[in-house]
Amino acid sequence: MYYEKDEARGIEGTFMWLMEEVGELSSALRGGTQQERKEEFADVIAWLATIANVAGIDLAEALNEKYGSGCPGCGKFVCTCDDAEKP
Ligand SMILES: [Zn+2]
Repeated sequence: MYYEKDEARGIEGTFMWLMEEVGELSSALRGGTQQERKEEFADVIAWLATIANVAGIDLAEALNEKYGSGCPGCGKFVCTCDDAEKP
């Protein structure tokens, strides 16, 4: 939708926008309405997808490769990893 603008902005500029949106999501989660939270989640995902496009990463493919077969740690769809482990 905005590929030419995104490419001109570059990965670094786009990353700064993502960080700004993450901050706005944080504020919305702390004190915003459900509608504001919804909008900020949409913004964060949109900017994340934008960076992936500019970086030449197929986000759907990346997600599927890493999480499509379950948790990367334990391999299960309902994670059984120890709580101290990531994720
Ligand atoms: Zn796991």
